[in-house]
Amino acid sequence: MTTNVDSAPESTLPYPPIHKDKKFVVLSDWDGTITTRDSNDYMTDELGFGPEKRRQGNLDILAGKVTFRDAFREMLESVSANGHSFESCKEELKKNIKLDPGFKDFYQYCKAHDIPVVIISSGMAPIIRAVLSQLIGEEDSKDIEIVANEADVHEDGSWSIKYRHPSSGFGHDKSQAILPYRQLENPPTIFFFGDGVSDMSAARHADVLYVKQKPGGENDLAAFCNREGIPHIIFEDFSHALRSVSAIVEGKKTAQEALAEGRA
Ligand SMILES: [Mg+2]
Repeated sequence: MTTNVDSAPESTLPYPPIHKDKKFVVLSDWDGTITTRDSNDYMTDELGFGPEKRRQGNLDILAGKVTFRDAFREMLESVSANGHSFESCKEELKKNIKLDPGFKDFYQYCKAHDIPVVIISSGMAPIIRAVLSQLIGEEDSKDIEIVANEADVHEDGSWSIKYRHPSSGFGHDKSQAILPYRQLENPPTIFFFGDGVSDMSAARHADVLYVKQKPGGENDLAAFCNREGIPHIIFEDFSHALRSVSAIVEGKKTAQEALAEGRA
């Protein structure tokens, strides 16, 4: 599936302005990348139809049998169908979702080096914002932009995901957050961080793609990149990513050299 600005799917949600005149920009997936556990997996496994059906859904997405948009919508609908309100899910996730152990230091490094950090997620913005504030504090949370999907909460208390790009099989086509940077006269180096099937739409468009290693070996994004021949760097957590990113930012290593090594 190829995407470019000319054939961009229509966005039903606004974008924050892109960061012009920066040398580097960090775009990162949220669930399972900045957090240790994917909050949507958590909801589906603990409150919805459970891990087996969820895992099969992800494998079907990877194999191209079903779109991310349709499979992911079903996972979340199983949570709402079990009677869990949107607000109760938010509270449950605030209690249970943890931050990658290296993320705070990574974020402080970026802040000190004038590198914007933007979350690019297929999750729902109100949940991400609530959990992010809980994990890193209101102050820093306000400085991090979130480009994600939204939620529709219906009158009867049921809820469903509201996709940014409903016409795209990705629901949120993450390449659309990267491609506008390519139009700039002096485009920044784009670092993209991800871990799963929701990042397939971004994978081939980043300058330097970091893929998070998952405990237990299920790594759908690495499998996708290996199959498609997309160069990427495997990282364990953001403390490892920081070593790799700072080496590039400080000119000790080129992006190509870091990609050739393949591991942070
Ligand atoms: Mg993820």
